[in-house]
Amino acid sequence: MSSMTTGLTLTLALSKGRIFEETLPLLRAAGIEVLEDPETSRKLILPTNRDGVRIVMVRASDVPTYVQYGGADLGVAGRDVLHEQALAQGGSHGLYQPLDLNIARCRMSVAVRADFDYAAAIKQGSRIRVATKYTEIARQHFADKGVHVDLIKLYGSMELAPLTGLAEAIVDLVSTGGTLRANKLVEVEHIMEISSRLVVNQAALKLKRDLLRPLIDAFAAAIRP
Ligand code: ATP
Ligand code: MG
Repeated sequence: MSSMTTGLTLTLALSKGRIFEETLPLLRAAGIEVLEDPETSRKLILPTNRDGVRIVMVRASDVPTYVQYGGADLGVAGRDVLHEQALAQGGSHGLYQPLDLNIARCRMSVAVRADFDYAAAIKQGSRIRVATKYTEIARQHFADKGVHVDLIKLYGSMELAPLTGLAEAIVDLVSTGGTLRANKLVEVEHIMEISSRLVVNQAALKLKRDLLRPLIDAFAAAIRP
């Protein structure tokens, strides 16, 4: 059934950079080619080769919001962003998450300066200042461990916080560890493994089932282990 006969369109929310790049092969497997490059185009809505399928480019942390409120029918978002926002909304955001796409893989960790004795600080029951973009995940992690923390919300370059004395520790994403090493920081705790998931609007799942199901199935078949 084409969008010409149903009058339905599908809007997919993606973010620039690794999520866009790593979603392209999955889209291709579903027969969808994006017709413009978000790095060079000024358009926020990118057309595809398929009538009725379009891509909206949003900030990584805005993807769940677009999908939750129907600004997009589906999207690709990191588990970090999804978990943080679910906690902020009291545990759930009502997004259907049919697939772990196994892309944009990294881990969320606690890191400190190499010369800071984290184990000793915890043992003494000291309050630790923690800088992070992920305040809800950090709050839950340290509460579960019974560690007292003062959380400092940052929007970027978390690695700078322990180097300037803003905080003793950070909660951040780590992939190779190269950025931590370059800044003389060490990982002291692992919080969770991160990858990106496909998220689908609940109403769209019902109303646009005939368009969504084949797309979800094609994505599922193209996921690399
Ligand atoms: P910006 O960098 O524009 O401020 P952002 O940090 O939210 O925005 P990205 O860096 O593209 O955007 O990250 C998007 C998602 O990719 C994250 O939510 C996370 O799931 C994943 N990610 C982030 N950093 C890494 C990394 N170093 N390696 C692998 N995946 C990562
Ligand atoms: Mg980033």
